[in-house]
Amino acid sequence: MTYDEFKRLKVSIDMTRGKPSAAQLDLCVDGLGNSLKDEYLSRDGIDCRNYGHPLGLPEAREFGAELLGARADQIVAAGNASLELMHDAIVFGMLHGMPGGTPWRLNEEIAFLCPVPGYDRHFAICAALGIRMIPVPLTGEGPDMDFVEAQAASNPSIKGMWCMPSYSNPSGEVYSTSTVHRLAAMQTAAPDFRLFWDDAYRFHHLATEGRAVPMNMIDLCAGAGHPDRPLVFASLSKVTFAGAGVAFLGSSQSNIAWWQRCSGVRTIGPDKMNQLRHVRFLRSAASLERLMDLHAALLCPKFDAVTATFAEVLGGLSNVSWTKPAGGYFISLYSPQGLAKRTVNLAAEAGIAMTPAGAAFPLGVDAEDRHMRIAPSFPKLEDVKLAAQGIALSLRRAIDERASVM
Ligand code: PLP
Repeated sequence: MTYDEFKRLKVSIDMTRGKPSAAQLDLCVDGLGNSLKDEYLSRDGIDCRNYGHPLGLPEAREFGAELLGARADQIVAAGNASLELMHDAIVFGMLHGMPGGTPWRLNEEIAFLCPVPGYDRHFAICAALGIRMIPVPLTGEGPDMDFVEAQAASNPSIKGMWCMPSYSNPSGEVYSTSTVHRLAAMQTAAPDFRLFWDDAYRFHHLATEGRAVPMNMIDLCAGAGHPDRPLVFASLSKVTFAGAGVAFLGSSQSNIAWWQRCSGVRTIGPDKMNQLRHVRFLRSAASLERLMDLHAALLCPKFDAVTATFAEVLGGLSNVSWTKPAGGYFISLYSPQGLAKRTVNLAAEAGIAMTPAGAAFPLGVDAEDRHMRIAPSFPKLEDVKLAAQGIALSLRRAIDERASVM
């Protein structure tokens, strides 16, 4: 099929965001819908309908601890969104400073290290709060650690770094053991430097081989003499309901106490009913894993359809490549330099909405204009196949257009 023939199909497919499909959301409807029918008292007799427990329901904190390999007193079980926790942690840093530190807002400049391509919403938080973003190349084993160590050691305005150790959005990158150890141990010019350890995809395997084995960043940093360095984030958004899961923050006790002081001003407590529902439904890390296998069974054919179609339509083209992630929610497609935006526009003209080219870079600027984020999770399998074909044909058309003017 040619690009023009594809266009005549008049499809309309949304591939913009990595949302779970309706079939994935249906996996939890029965369990979560019924689990509080008769009871709202927690294990310890807490009436979950009422105010209180600002760090979360005890059994929800224990469940988070089991999932993150931490202790319950190192865990906050919060609302529905880990992104909100990341945002608030940075805002608290700006307004109040980290424990023992001065408010970041008093500095002339605040900067964050940002592995690229990365998560657009991380970068949107930095942009909204006036934080300078320093792009860091990825190596296939996580961020380029020589660069990171040199920057962090020499620049005291660098207060944080975004990290997605398991199946990064959108590269699928898994941080190697050596990368993780170096991040835990490196010297930083800022004493109040924090790793924003966003482990959003730690449960989200697609393959049985090459699985990411999440490491305990809280213990590693403590062992390296930097106990307050990591702020670990995770959530059940893509385990149960993307808009109604439970988010977790894991960190040192001093950071958790700081969190309670700062967040206590904005809330009397989280939605414990939802936390109770989740603990009762999910029960244990082992049963969560079984649920994630059902997600994988729905997701894998979609990822395979994209990579198979790319191989068919784009195989052998020079400077064109794509990732084959072992987990997470995204595939990255790389065009020859200067053609990603044009490809996304051509795809839009053919009825396929993609994440804007450049979105995975600070301020939306991909200097090489090569990267495209493909989000296969949401549409039905037939539509994913069609969309992959349309995107691949759009890229071929962009390459042909350029060749014709040369
Ligand atoms: N972090 C990453 C890397 C993500 O890709 C996403 C959602 O796509 C989130 C966080 C959002 O998580 P939550 O729903 O817990 O706010």
